[in-house]
Amino acid sequence: MSETLELYNTIERKIVPFIPLSNQLVKIYACGPTVYNYAHIGNLRTYINQDLLVRALKFNGFKIKHVINITDVGHLTSDEDSGDDKMELSAAKEGATIWEVAQKYTDAFMNDFQELNITKPTLWSKATDHIDEQIELVKRLEEAGLAYKIENDGIYYDTFKFKDYNRLGGQNLEELKAGARINFTEGKKNISDFALWKVSPQNKKRLMQWPSPWGMGFPGWHIECSAMALKHLGEEIDIHCGGVDHIKIHHSNEIAQVEPLTKKRWVRYWMHSEFLIDQSGKMSKSTGEFLTLSLLKSKGYLPLAYRFYCLGSHYRSKLNFSYESLDAAQQGYIGLIAKLRRLMAESKDLQVENEKLIAIRGKIKKIINNDLNSSETLAYLFTLLKDYSVNASTKIASLDVFDALLGLDLVESLKKIEKIEKVPEEVRQLVLERSKAKSEKNFVRADSIRLKIKELGYLIEDRKEGIKIKKG
Ligand code: AMP
Ligand code: ZN
Repeated sequence: MSETLELYNTIERKIVPFIPLSNQLVKIYACGPTVYNYAHIGNLRTYINQDLLVRALKFNGFKIKHVINITDVGHLTSDEDSGDDKMELSAAKEGATIWEVAQKYTDAFMNDFQELNITKPTLWSKATDHIDEQIELVKRLEEAGLAYKIENDGIYYDTFKFKDYNRLGGQNLEELKAGARINFTEGKKNISDFALWKVSPQNKKRLMQWPSPWGMGFPGWHIECSAMALKHLGEEIDIHCGGVDHIKIHHSNEIAQVEPLTKKRWVRYWMHSEFLIDQSGKMSKSTGEFLTLSLLKSKGYLPLAYRFYCLGSHYRSKLNFSYESLDAAQQGYIGLIAKLRRLMAESKDLQVENEKLIAIRGKIKKIINNDLNSSETLAYLFTLLKDYSVNASTKIASLDVFDALLGLDLVESLKKIEKIEKVPEEVRQLVLERSKAKSEKNFVRADSIRLKIKELGYLIEDRKEGIKIKKG
């Protein structure tokens, strides 16, 4: 364990000390959501993990400039630069304009951030606000001889011209050459080449398109991140984050679009968050089968209980989602708050033991500095609460440190949770069962459970922000 922050750096394939480019400001870029649908709880796990990084950096005394993009154009249904634009498809399905769809899901995403207590970035950066910068970057790549044109299709990046293309993903070049030929775009020189700019099809009017030196069209998905990161963070950045699915393609492409032009190492540390997986093996936004935070809320789960659930496993481990384990996490979270409330009452006339508090703080810092070990930080919290050699006031005083790092809002939740706690366990269980019945569209059962709840003396109201339970 280390006094200073150590992080796993994907590109070095090991845990290394974090040394910022400048002590004044740590620059972080994170790939944001494609806003054609709600974020699923897997996406949100990734942002909770990134928030852990942001909080750990702040705890270590760093100032941060943190940019997250909003992908509102250019992400096609196929990873092979073919298929339809996800945004256009969603707009057609919802009978709305693309801009309305983008706004709706961007707002929903930001709302999820707030409910999960995820720190807002310094800047939200929208792809459609940076079309000029993306065109400029494509021009530079073309001038540097790294791009080629496919007639009636677009401008493509020639990945075999960048000798370090596989450095991040570790792909074997022969493997890349051979590649699977399914969906192989006609005219592409290598399987790993990717679109920088796509020209609009002649037989179909696109809703989103812009003039460019290559004709009316729209940017490829990968170019937006490089262009926006260069604009807002400069030619060298400290940390770039995303999910593990981005390592081999999206992030390798992002590097290829920058380093041959700047001749500098673009990103010092790559942080990749492992996936949340469901029974089907993958939670996927494009198949439309996924769980959202609002669905969890409608089933009676607290957003912070989901955060607690995520923090219980390391960001580099896969997390298998099940309602049983989420139930256990919610009980653990509510139980923790209940324990803290008893402790608060106990702490009334006790002085904080300052030296012990400093030692506790030091211990927490060491744990989190070991590659953001959130589960061990939580385990330490539970051990501390049982430690009779530390008085209740000191324990309560240490919660600020846990809150600063884990963002579980323990101190605030002590107040909020009161309402939930007063409801008997039997009623809470029935509320969960009713939500389940509703989600399965079994309204007869849902209504009969509501009556049972009423007989026990409680009324429930379905509200936009969740279920309200009150004595009736
Ligand atoms: P997207 O909106 O699909 O571009 O994804 C937003 C972020 O969520 C990216 O950083 C992805 O790598 C990440 N992500 C996608 N699926 C999952 C998942 N099942 N578990 C964790 N992170 C994911
Ligand atoms: Zn990106």
